[in-house]
Amino acid sequence: MSVSILDGFDFASAGIDDFGVVQAGPSLTYDAYTRAIARGVPPQLQYLVRNAACRRGFDDILPGARAVVCCVVAMPPWPDGEDEPRYARFCTLGDYHQTLRQRLSPLAEYLKSCGATHTRICVDTAPVLERELAVRAGLGSIGWNRMFIHPRWGSFVALGEVFADIEVVEKRALEGAIEACTPGRTGCPCAPGTRCCVRACPTQALTESGYDMHRCLAYWSTQHRGEIPEFYARSMGSTLWGCDRCQNACPRNRSQSPTTATPLDSPLPGISFYDLLTLSGRQLKKALAGSPLADAHPDIVRRNACIVLGNLGAHNHTAELENLALHSPTDWVRSSAQRALG
Ligand code: SF4
Ligand code: SF4
Repeated sequence: MSVSILDGFDFASAGIDDFGVVQAGPSLTYDAYTRAIARGVPPQLQYLVRNAACRRGFDDILPGARAVVCCVVAMPPWPDGEDEPRYARFCTLGDYHQTLRQRLSPLAEYLKSCGATHTRICVDTAPVLERELAVRAGLGSIGWNRMFIHPRWGSFVALGEVFADIEVVEKRALEGAIEACTPGRTGCPCAPGTRCCVRACPTQALTESGYDMHRCLAYWSTQHRGEIPEFYARSMGSTLWGCDRCQNACPRNRSQSPTTATPLDSPLPGISFYDLLTLSGRQLKKALAGSPLADAHPDIVRRNACIVLGNLGAHNHTAELENLALHSPTDWVRSSAQRALG
């Protein structure tokens, strides 16, 4: 069945800011991906190795898939709030897996109404080379900071895909997809040697010669289970979750028109440092449900709260830190609390 169907779906009403289509075919960047993981992957990211082969094409994601509709959702600005812990910008979408799935579900249903037998929504929930797909869909390019960058929204966007076993006519054809998939090759105005993202990176995860995920705070703060080495802990500064410095420094973000996306009142309503340090694991899980930290291990959240309070030199949580330093059953939470007190 050949259709030109996407004009019949109201993407804006679904909360999707841009979209494009990729026809089924082998991945363009699979070899580069396998070379990258062959250089080594941190322990908590071993799934990148285990399911690497699924990224070769579409069939491991949805057997018989013929097209994928790639969707872009711009991240709202972070609401002001001086006494709250700081989080990476993606947290403004709440639990973005849930937020995007809700927005993409009507599209999947629509494709079924157009004749698709099977669809699959992916929101960072399947082994998909989603930045490549977004580039091939004509939605933007990859910056030197390894982020997908949309010409209007910059890199502060979330990506989601709907795979479908139906032919979908392309919205736009993209010349030079490989070029646009190569970090910094197209669209980056910074000259080699003067890249703003490299200068902004506090840990040298991003250098003029490449990216090393072992040094990236986005990994240490959200994935690593254990004590964070002092250099990386100090580099976290006041940010409890993620990093964003290489994006905040990027001229392609600074020149963006303000997003029209509606900010959530508060992605983490009412959760203070006190809560993060004192709630039990079960209470914390409940308090974080529906937030961007919904899937986070409570000890990772507690450890990060200790680190940020230590970095800020905050003295108003000494009692909670002392309690954790003495009584947390997890050694790396105890040591993080002790370090914060020190
Ligand atoms: S997220 Fe932070 S640590 Fe990672 S590359 Fe960007 S600036 Fe460096
Ligand atoms: S800071 Fe410069 S080099 Fe880095 S991603 Fe942005 S435009 Fe590209």
